[in-house]
Amino acid sequence: MPEDLALRSPDVVIIGAGAAGLMCAMTAAGRGRRVLLLDRSNKAGKKILMSGGGRCNFTNMWAEPANYASRNEHFCKSALARYTPWDFIALVDKHGIAHHEKKLGQLFCDDKSKDILNLLLTECREAGVELHVNTSVQRIERTDDGYALQTDLGPVRATSVVIATGGLSIPTLGSSGFGYEIARQFGHEVLPTRAGLVPFIITDGLKELCNELSGTSVAAVARCRDQSFSENILFTHRGLSGPAILQISSFWELGDTVEIDLLPDRDALAWLQEQQAARPDSGLGTVLAGVFTKKMAGLLADRWFEAKPMKRFTPAELRDVAARLNGWQVVPGGTEGYRTAEVTLGGVDTREISPKTLESRRSPGLYFVGEVLDVTGHLGGFNFQWAWASGHAAAQVV
Ligand SMILES: Cc1cc2nc3c(=O)[nH]c(=O)nc-3n(C[C@H](O)[C@H](O)[C@H](O)COP(=O)(O)OP(=O)(O)OC[C@H]3O[C@@H](n4cnc5c(N)ncnc54)[C@H](O)[C@@H]3O)c2cc1C
Repeated sequence: MPEDLALRSPDVVIIGAGAAGLMCAMTAAGRGRRVLLLDRSNKAGKKILMSGGGRCNFTNMWAEPANYASRNEHFCKSALARYTPWDFIALVDKHGIAHHEKKLGQLFCDDKSKDILNLLLTECREAGVELHVNTSVQRIERTDDGYALQTDLGPVRATSVVIATGGLSIPTLGSSGFGYEIARQFGHEVLPTRAGLVPFIITDGLKELCNELSGTSVAAVARCRDQSFSENILFTHRGLSGPAILQISSFWELGDTVEIDLLPDRDALAWLQEQQAARPDSGLGTVLAGVFTKKMAGLLADRWFEAKPMKRFTPAELRDVAARLNGWQVVPGGTEGYRTAEVTLGGVDTREISPKTLESRRSPGLYFVGEVLDVTGHLGGFNFQWAWASGHAAAQVV
């Protein structure tokens, strides 16, 4: 038998060398466990490389359970409390990686995402992790003392198997439904999945406005289903994007209206009344140009209202304008889907997973970490923090 196809018997097999799998591998190997880390892609950590616009928003200093969506809202607490953003920052500092806070506690590399991937690969190498890319797993079966796997490397036996295969977003980066299949095979429920942190597509009459304003970004508050996010929105030729939209997309469901406050922190009616008194002969577009770009002001005045002088707006009309500015009602036609989504909502139901160890309650020795689980962070470094924390928690016991 060729050496490569001989039976391997590490202590732990980790499937998926993304953020969670790499963290789990380096930490378990650091405890002296013999770790085999497999990824079907040709490269480990592809999402890390793509993340944060190439600078990897690797954590958020203020990460807490409230920043995560899950059917089981308490599940993430234990792992997050035991591996905090400061633990990961200490690791980043140990590797001399320069970083900065962009805003709202979001930490980015000064240079490139590759620095974070190199950190993880270096730690894995130094701890003795055996990493194989371009390697798929065909089958996993339970044995008396662990698991038997059929892989491209040949048969593998291990006492622990960690599923770290991530979600479904951006299929070209290696995503697969494999983790969900294994979860079902071992009796777990998989909650319905859908794209999260994803731009909206506008299909109704607003589409033309979005297209014409494509590239324009404005501060706003986006609200839907009792959630609200105060950040920028970005008009695109297909609809709406930008941080506030990506955030609210994780809570939006088809048919929901999203309310967008285009004048956050400002009472639009009081402001318009002041403008009417101070500049009665100015057109609405000119007045709006005081707070929006000239193009946006002109388009809003023309499309939404009458572009007449301020003095000709009746009190009722002024109230309508204000209501629109403070509460623009948008009904997205859909989202751009997994093709551009940063995360996958839903996934392996956490009610059958130990929050402390991430071990399956249905099949001892089987673990699920990272995005494959029904735990989804807000935009801003929270998803990586979940990957680090859950990978680290499982690594203590595998
Ligand atoms: C474009 C983009 C930018 C992002 N930017 C940020 C950011 O700046 N900050 C942040 O916090 N989050 C960001 N995210 C989200 C973050 O990347 C994920 O939440 C995180 O990578 C999840 O980690 P994971 O290890 O669970 O899964 P992944 O990182 O997706 O890793 C899963 C791994 O499993 C492998 N795999 C899948 N199926 C199989 C199989 N059948 N057999 C073997 N291997 C398999 C994949 O090839 C992959 O390497 C971004 C996501 C995207 C798509």
